[in-house]
Amino acid sequence: MRENTKGRLEGRTAIVTGSTYGIGEAIAKVLADEGAISIVTGRTEEEGERVAGEIRSSGRSAEYHHLDVTDEEEVVKVMRAVYEKYGRIDILVNNAGISGPSKPTHEYTREEWERVFDVNVTGAFLCTKNVIPYMKRGGGGNIVYISSIYGIVGSQDNPAYHATKAANRIMAKTGALIYAKNNVRVNSVHPGFIWTPMVEDFLKDQSRELGVALEDLKGELDARHPIGHVGEPNDIAYGVLYLVSDEAKFVTGSELIIDGGYTTR
Ligand code: NAP
Repeated sequence: MRENTKGRLEGRTAIVTGSTYGIGEAIAKVLADEGAISIVTGRTEEEGERVAGEIRSSGRSAEYHHLDVTDEEEVVKVMRAVYEKYGRIDILVNNAGISGPSKPTHEYTREEWERVFDVNVTGAFLCTKNVIPYMKRGGGGNIVYISSIYGIVGSQDNPAYHATKAANRIMAKTGALIYAKNNVRVNSVHPGFIWTPMVEDFLKDQSRELGVALEDLKGELDARHPIGHVGEPNDIAYGVLYLVSDEAKFVTGSELIIDGGYTTR
């Protein structure tokens, strides 16, 4: 448990997709630290139970639910179970995501392309679609899409990932406009490179392919961020906390870039 928490989310229920590890784990923990009941979700039960257990051991509230965001039946089931138990769903963080293969567009198969869209775009759509009725019933809520700097600027890596993260950015903006009248705020967060299993695996693949040492690739990645290093999951979690707290009550349709200066060049 962190010191100096203010209980900003006391009594609220927060569903964080893909919170079995990585950025989602940090978000689930930071929201719980501020008093939210964190609903930890993902497909890896052991990791999900670990995260929820660590939150409970710190004196906060959390439970794990198996949730593959591409499976609408499961999305419906989890949302219903959470609502029936707690009587409200206040926060949804659409964090679950995959990077897909790093290769040029013309080498992608249709299946590879569609898989990235299925998780990153359709998954976020299904969760948003199914949470909105509960937020309306509760008089409002907050949705955050974890997009990426790759949804803002281009690169030579992961063309499907870029396209999906740009989609997340505009999904947040249209959601903000559609649901403002329901007191639901919708925003996007755009992380630079954050040290998580996703980035570590990406660098390991590159290291094997290019025959360059992992530490050298990590050094190159650090140098792409003017601040001198890649970020850590909590850097993103605190941004999400701000957006879903009442301190951001005038913030909707906004894009919060947290990238150590990567996109300022
Ligand atoms: P990660 O370490 O690979 O973690 C991804 C999370 O998503 C895991 O909890 C994984 O859990 C879950 N997930 C994957 N497929 C899923 C599915 N079909 N249904 C439900 N959950 C699924 O990735 P990360 O780096 O933490 O990234 C989290 C988000 O931040 C992603 O949307 C990513 O695009 C975005 N982002 C990351 C970076 C970065 O540098 N790390 C930068 C910008 C944006 P299970 O395997 O248990 O399902």
